[in-house]
Amino acid sequence: MNELPSKPLSIHQGETRHLGAHDPNYERHFRAVSQPIYQTSLFAFRDFDDMANAYAGNPGGPIYARGDNPTVMAFEREIARLENTEASRAFASGMGAISATVMALVAPGDRIVTVHNVYSDAYRLFETILRPMGVEIDYVDGKDTDAVIAAITDARLLFLESPTSLTFELQDLEKLATAAKSNDVITVIDNSWATPVFQKPADHGIDLVIHAASKFLSGHSDTVAGVVTGRQSLIDRINASTFPYLGGKLGPFEAWLLLRGLDTLELRMQRHALNGEYLARNLAVHPQVSSVLYSGFSDHPGSKTLHGHSSLFSIILDDAVDIRAFSNALRIFRLGVSWGGPESLVVPAAAVLDQKYDVSAFRHFKLNPQLVRIYGGLENPEHLLADLKQAIAVGLKR
Ligand SMILES: *Cc1c(COP(=O)(O)O)cnc(C)c1O
Repeated sequence: MNELPSKPLSIHQGETRHLGAHDPNYERHFRAVSQPIYQTSLFAFRDFDDMANAYAGNPGGPIYARGDNPTVMAFEREIARLENTEASRAFASGMGAISATVMALVAPGDRIVTVHNVYSDAYRLFETILRPMGVEIDYVDGKDTDAVIAAITDARLLFLESPTSLTFELQDLEKLATAAKSNDVITVIDNSWATPVFQKPADHGIDLVIHAASKFLSGHSDTVAGVVTGRQSLIDRINASTFPYLGGKLGPFEAWLLLRGLDTLELRMQRHALNGEYLARNLAVHPQVSSVLYSGFSDHPGSKTLHGHSSLFSIILDDAVDIRAFSNALRIFRLGVSWGGPESLVVPAAAVLDQKYDVSAFRHFKLNPQLVRIYGGLENPEHLLADLKQAIAVGLKR
């Protein structure tokens, strides 16, 4: 059974944003407190010289919305502010951000080092697109800091995700960032789970931070989006290659939905943290739960950079529990991939192990079929716990 942490998990405080911070044209926009949506694909030039200057590299403003759009730029600025970075680039999905970032930084012959249980579609990007193009990819146990450090000599890129998808294993960001720097390796982290409220990887030396903005940043299960943020020089490399030519840009309305989501991000994360901790602690003492994969119980050095723990974690149910009967008995929790919205969800590993794809991260990383990923939404945590308990009881009867 997992050890409970000795001191209570504290709630992170203090992301206060100023009114109108989204909008550099606040006065011109009648001091609208909500960022206006620039629903336009292009921005006309004032005259010939304005156009010629823009093409010579000195644009007076946005030109065409496959590049810049003011509503999207407001979201990009806000992410850079929250993550303590210099610049960001938003994309039409989290995978758009991951693929554009990785493909801007590696070339055939280069090596990527990443961790076991990295997000399943990042794994599939590595295996189905990058490996056939001549990029080498090595998967190492991210918990084992020495093993990662040994693996990155001669690598181009270290792709982290702490905690990892489904198994929630941590990595020591500070040590890995230092080791990567001395080997000239660029570090990238998928920070979707923690959000900048609970972890700011750039403060610990990580070069680029990616979010599946579809999840907590949006917060309402109504948007698919992604973003990468970091030093201007690295964002410029993405801006000069994959961003314009793969063309996976974010639309202005989605950017506006994301800005609205960010207004309540900290508040939502506090509630998710409470719900997650309540569920994890109670499930840890349930007789049919053999383990709880919850970062709040971990004393791995990787927990030093986490200021809180979100409500996405996994449990392993013992073999006596029929996973199908358990899943079908849930009344509040729904069966669904993704997470980050108000509604609670589960993903039973047994339902996703058998895939039409030849290349499967779940098979590669040998996902336990008794694993159930739990996402605690914003509902009453006592109701959520009662739902899981009654479903486990149904699963036991079979
Ligand atoms: C969902 C997810 C992604 C991909 O984001 P999309 O917006 O669905 O493309 C990447 N990383 C993690 C950890 C995710 O959960």
